[in-house]
Amino acid sequence: MTEFVIDPPKPVVLPVAGTDKVFPVRRVYCIGRNYAAHAVEMGHDPDREPPFFFQKNPDNLDPSSEFPYPAKTEDVHHEVELAVALKAGGTNIGIDKALDHVFGYAICLDMTRRDLQGEAKKLGRPWEIGKAFERSAPIGPLHTVDAVGHPADGRIEVKVGSEVKQEGDLNQMIWKVPEMISYLSEYFELAPGDVIMSGTPAGVGPVKKGDTMVATIEGLGELTVRVV
Ligand code: MN
Repeated sequence: MTEFVIDPPKPVVLPVAGTDKVFPVRRVYCIGRNYAAHAVEMGHDPDREPPFFFQKNPDNLDPSSEFPYPAKTEDVHHEVELAVALKAGGTNIGIDKALDHVFGYAICLDMTRRDLQGEAKKLGRPWEIGKAFERSAPIGPLHTVDAVGHPADGRIEVKVGSEVKQEGDLNQMIWKVPEMISYLSEYFELAPGDVIMSGTPAGVGPVKKGDTMVATIEGLGELTVRVV
C-alpha cells in the first residue's frame, strides 16, 4: 500500500437530503452573468454571448450554516445560485443527453469579495482572489433527481434579514443547465463529483457580520447562513 508522506486532505463531501449518505466533490465550475438582469446590473450586455466559467476550489464549498466574514475585503456580496451535482462525466456531451449526468441539485451562495474581483477585472487578472477564498460557497444539502426532478423554472431568491435582496426565476437563465453541461464538456473532461454553480439573478449586494442570509429555490427548500 502507498504510504502518504503527509496526511492526505480530507475528502470534500456534501450531505444528500433525506439520507445519511454524502456526495464527494471533485471540481467546482461557476458560470458568470447567466441571468440577463444581473448582467445588466454589472454593466454588461445581456445578449446571449457564449457562456464563461471560473472555478472555486472544492473545499470552498461549506455545508455549515455560518459564513465567516473573509479577510482583505470590505465588500462581500451574496449571489444565490442553483448548484448542479454530476454523477457522470465525459467530453462533448450532447445537450439532449446532458441531464442524464446529473445526480442532484442544491441551493448555494457564490460569496464574492466584490472589491477584489473589481480590481482584478480592471487589471485583466484572474478572479480567484475575489471568488475562491475559504468557505466562499455555503451550500445546502443535495436533492436527488429522483426526489426533485430537474428544476428548470421556479422562484430563486435571497433575503438578508427580512428584506428580499435578490429574486428571479430559474427560467431566466440565459444558458440552461443542459447547455452549460454540454458547453463545459467541450472544454473540460467532466467527471462524477463535479459541481456547477449556475449563475445568479439580479440584486447582488453586500453583507456584514451579524446578517442572516436566507436563500430559497422553489422545490429545494431554503438555506440559512449567518455571517459571523
Ligand atoms: Mn456567481
